[in-house]
Amino acid sequence: MADKVVIVGAGPSGLSAALFLDEMGIPVTVIERGTGPSDDPRAATFHPPTLELLAPSGVTAELLERGIKSPLWQHRDRKKGLIAALDLSVLSRETEHPYRLQCEQHKFVQILSKHLADRPGVEIRYGTDLLSVEQDADKVMLATTSGPVACDWLIAADGGRSLVRKSQDIVFEGFTYKERFLVITTNYDFAKRGFAVSNYIADPDEWCAVFKVPGDRPSGLWRSVFPMDEDEDEETIVRDFASAHARVARFVPEQDAFDVVHVNVYNVHQRVASTFRKGRIMLIGDAAHVNNPLGGMGMNFGIHDAHNLAEKLAAVVKGEADESILDRFSRQRRYAAQTFLQRMTIQNKRNLEERDPDLKLAREKELAEIAADEERSRAHLMQTSMIAGYRAANAIE
Ligand SMILES: Cc1cc2nc3c(=O)[nH]c(=O)nc-3n(C[C@H](O)[C@H](O)[C@H](O)COP(=O)(O)OP(=O)(O)OC[C@H]3O[C@@H](n4cnc5c(N)ncnc54)[C@H](O)[C@@H]3O)c2cc1C
Repeated sequence: MADKVVIVGAGPSGLSAALFLDEMGIPVTVIERGTGPSDDPRAATFHPPTLELLAPSGVTAELLERGIKSPLWQHRDRKKGLIAALDLSVLSRETEHPYRLQCEQHKFVQILSKHLADRPGVEIRYGTDLLSVEQDADKVMLATTSGPVACDWLIAADGGRSLVRKSQDIVFEGFTYKERFLVITTNYDFAKRGFAVSNYIADPDEWCAVFKVPGDRPSGLWRSVFPMDEDEDEETIVRDFASAHARVARFVPEQDAFDVVHVNVYNVHQRVASTFRKGRIMLIGDAAHVNNPLGGMGMNFGIHDAHNLAEKLAAVVKGEADESILDRFSRQRRYAAQTFLQRMTIQNKRNLEERDPDLKLAREKELAEIAADEERSRAHLMQTSMIAGYRAANAIE
């Protein structure tokens, strides 16, 4: 017998979709090529709408226990220092969570996996690689390393290189940056130098973003994100921490010692799928859109996709709505991906690397004015906290 709903990918998007569908009474099967919950620490920032969506299941309470609340974040200039500090508490009338929460992606995946393990309606098949996908008017047929699987509806949450998206000839429109992003985790306490938990540091030659994460120790760890020169060798930089150490040391007084704990390199893309639905197949998360990490939005957006789709797919499976409602999912989330996620993350990178001194000065003045004015702060933070994009998507017919 065919499964009703199968999800490919047990990352943040796929597991969130499983959680939301189960809460709506729809059984799901998740297939995942990894042999257990992923330990990739990539994302670390949770925004208010995401914490609201995950609250009914108890997941938000666990994230709050393990994470670091960050109501304040800073814009800095590498030479001048602090330009503006933005305070999310001005959003307290808009959300129960007027802050960013810092908690690593792999801990979130672990929390979701633990919640789902107790639910009889959810089966996660680890160690199962999807090999090919076909659909007709009545069902979707999957070939996997554990044998064939048939389902009524397939949710593709299989990441940026999505085999499902490619199998359906869905175009992934956009571009890839020529520079890679280098993420260096250290035990240097940037708070000693007046940094907030989240900081964006503009510089035309080498911008940087610095964030605190809980790590595995009470004092936490600090991640720095830098652009990486095209001719730098990825293997050397990841294996030999010396050049990573030198990069962070340029931010730190000479006498302060610190250790590099981890180094990662990522290729970065800005792309959106030409549709998020084709017949019985829907795309969510990185399978549907990818973006640079400046603003901490990609994973959050995938969780918002998962909730939007779960509500509509549950209604279709229960016979309460026509399947055309799934096109609305695609319209809503694609609109928000282009108008908010892509536009804002592309602009965030441009602001950090701005070379024109007049434009740079104008941006600094604007940020300082926004920070000093409560109304302008609220309008700005509605966008950067993803509340505006989330609401705008839901308003699309
Ligand atoms: C450095 C960095 C920092 C970031 N920081 C943030 C942040 O602070 N906040 C934020 O919101 N986002 C952030 N992001 C983005 C975030 O990491 C991604 O958006 C997120 O991982 C997407 O989740 P996903 O579940 O859609 O895809 P993935 O996490 O890629 O998961 C896809 C899953 O599908 C499985 N899979 C793939 N193909 C198959 C197959 N054929 N068969 C079976 N299984 C398969 C994979 O094994 C994987 O488990 C960051 C990204 C980077 C690189």
